[in-house]
Amino acid sequence: MWEHDVPLAPLVRYRIGGPAAALARPGSAGDLREALRTMPEPVAAGQRAGRSAPGPLTLGAGANVLVSDRGIGTPVLVLGGNFADFSHGNHSFVVGAAVRLPTLVREARRAGARGYYFLEAVPGTVGGALRMNAGTPDRGLWDLVEWAEAVTPDGDTVRVTSNEARPGYRSCGLPHRWVFARAKLSARPGDPAAIREKHRAFRDRKVRGQVYELPSVGSIWKNPGRAAGSSAWETVSAAGMRGAVRGGARIAERHANFIVNLGGASSDDVLGLMAETRGRVGRQLGVDLQPEIQLWGFSPEELASVGAAPPRPQTQETNLGGPE
Ligand SMILES: Cc1cc2nc3c(=O)[nH]c(=O)nc-3n(C[C@H](O)[C@H](O)[C@H](O)COP(=O)(O)OP(=O)(O)OC[C@H]3O[C@@H](n4cnc5c(N)ncnc54)[C@H](O)[C@@H]3O)c2cc1C
Repeated sequence: MWEHDVPLAPLVRYRIGGPAAALARPGSAGDLREALRTMPEPVAAGQRAGRSAPGPLTLGAGANVLVSDRGIGTPVLVLGGNFADFSHGNHSFVVGAAVRLPTLVREARRAGARGYYFLEAVPGTVGGALRMNAGTPDRGLWDLVEWAEAVTPDGDTVRVTSNEARPGYRSCGLPHRWVFARAKLSARPGDPAAIREKHRAFRDRKVRGQVYELPSVGSIWKNPGRAAGSSAWETVSAAGMRGAVRGGARIAERHANFIVNLGGASSDDVLGLMAETRGRVGRQLGVDLQPEIQLWGFSPEELASVGAAPPRPQTQETNLGGPE
């Protein structure tokens, strides 16, 4: 069930990163429990000394993850099969965690369901969007959740409501080792023509303003918030980093909160640009940028260089959101 030394670059949107020491692709709830039961111990990845964090880490479409070129020693799960099931209920959808967000949004549009426009042009899966509470600064997927089911590392299935999950801005308060399996989402009917128009307008504006033609992982930094007086892209621009290039990575001209892979970028190229940006923004504007993206396989020093959550000694190699 577990494969070893599996290249992650083809599985993530950035097309960057080394191998997962161990990876399993469960296609059903039974498979998932079996994968968790037989999950290998984490190993030190690449050249790095020290232990990796305990697994599992679940990978969706990799639309928000930068993987280190040295790979990752924490066992990785990629859900498929039944986890991509989609069903319409009475004013609700039940969606597997591997359902793609564009599929969900298309179905919502077709069904005339209200409240899904803000997920237009957001790549990824339902599982990744639950973990990240994907959306806009003031809306997230959890606003639509009636319940979500997650499987703990012990194989128990837990059903939680939105309140219990404590969602926040690009975060969710559930333990990072829990694997989202499926969710029931509200699908309140609205005026189909008005919904179609709202989706189209939102999508057009987003696609015009952001970068879809080159690999990226979306917004690199969380918006610093009203206290800092501006959004992340404005601070990056003001610090003179718009268009900056390192190796195969570039801060996009069109949207300074995106770092694109021009082709052949390494994880060091991206991390280096992030560290330089954060340093300049801090020195010049006094703003402390925090990464929105998930960083897998990096050393504590590398994580600290980009302001990722301080790692616990020896065991951490990701900026995992939420408690363990
Ligand atoms: C062009 C572009 C535009 C974007 N626009 C937006 C936007 O408008 N709003 C926004 O919020 N994001 C945006 N993003 C980022 C990304 O689309 C979202 O974060 C999305 O939710 C990632 O989903 P994923 O399945 O790819 O997750 P991944 O990138 O694979 O993983 C992200 C996190 O979710 C966890 N995870 C994934 N699946 C599961 C699961 N089943 N159970 C538990 N944990 C899981 C991972 O471990 C990781 O911590 C954009 C990205 C791009 C490239």
